[in-house]
Amino acid sequence: MKNYLTASISGSAVRHNIAVLRSVIGVDVKLCPVVKDDCFGHGMDVLYPVLADLVDGFAVASPLEALDLRNKGFEGFILCFLSAYFDDFEVQNELVRQGITQTVMSKSALASIEAAADRVNGTARVHLKVDTGMGRLGVLAAQASDMIKTIQETDRIELTGIYTHFATADEADRDSVFSQLELFKSIIPEGTEITRHAANSAATIDLPDTYLDMVRPGIAVYGYNPSDQLRNQLGLKPCMSVLAKLIAVKHVPEGSRSGYGLTHEFHRDSRIGVAPIGYGDGYFRNLSNKAVVRIGGHEAPVCGRVSMDQMTVDVTDIPGVQAGDEVEVISSDSNAPNCVENLARLADTIPYEITCHLGHNMRHVLID
Ligand SMILES: *Cc1c(COP(=O)(O)O)cnc(C)c1O
Repeated sequence: MKNYLTASISGSAVRHNIAVLRSVIGVDVKLCPVVKDDCFGHGMDVLYPVLADLVDGFAVASPLEALDLRNKGFEGFILCFLSAYFDDFEVQNELVRQGITQTVMSKSALASIEAAADRVNGTARVHLKVDTGMGRLGVLAAQASDMIKTIQETDRIELTGIYTHFATADEADRDSVFSQLELFKSIIPEGTEITRHAANSAATIDLPDTYLDMVRPGIAVYGYNPSDQLRNQLGLKPCMSVLAKLIAVKHVPEGSRSGYGLTHEFHRDSRIGVAPIGYGDGYFRNLSNKAVVRIGGHEAPVCGRVSMDQMTVDVTDIPGVQAGDEVEVISSDSNAPNCVENLARLADTIPYEITCHLGHNMRHVLID
């Protein structure tokens, strides 16, 4: 953890995003934000108090994330996407004791949950995950009704939900999403009190037909569009800016170069600043010579290769820059050249990867 790097997290932006998502899904659909991977790098410790009263539940990836939410005092619905199959018995037992809803994606996962429920003399709530085309986790649609029957016949297991996940909800072509949806609807058991859910952020933003009983948006909660191909623009607000301080500023003469491989040449007498952040802190190395940071609102190009814990920026055109000045590495303004979505484009990746990488290794501070 580096104290001189700060992720400033805006609670008001997250509250705005939740309100926007609520307004599109309406009052009959439950909202279950996905807070896996430390809230996609934005920091569970700062965001939990913001989110806890605004949601109908939380979804996480791993059992320990689920237990962490209980430790923080959350008493509501928690869905764990992955299996506790490989965790030790104590974790498996605790999931049942703490009433965490677990995902059944195979017979062996079901058997291990049943065994844990036996050990603690409790009942485990589960949601069945169905693979309708994503080709990842879940029982194949053809096996779903068998599996539903098996779960319903298993003592100590209560089937409270069924879900699937879309492979292409963030793409312009909707055909594949709708065929996944139709397949999913066809295997949902009738007349049961089972929560049906499918929608991630892209589907929540763009495809009302997918809402069913509950939606599971992740990236949209934090204020980013999952891709550039969505038709709806909901005015989500990015909630994170990443700040550092320049540790040195100096003159370099025309013709000098910068960084490993000397990939950048200064074509005039220049001033450079060094920021104490690099790929070890999650700032992508392939942003070298491409991205900008901002200092006092002015753009400073990243010049030369990004190192593990430092990078050099050109401050020649910014008057009065000194060591100690604040560097805005990531801006929470979605029109800024150093916003997450733009950095994702430049690094040829998705906003998710930018925030997951950059959120680690630094202090998270709630600013409003
Ligand atoms: C991560 C995840 C989500 C959230 O996806 P976003 O694109 O961030 O909205 C929803 N459901 C499942 C199963 C996931 O793994």
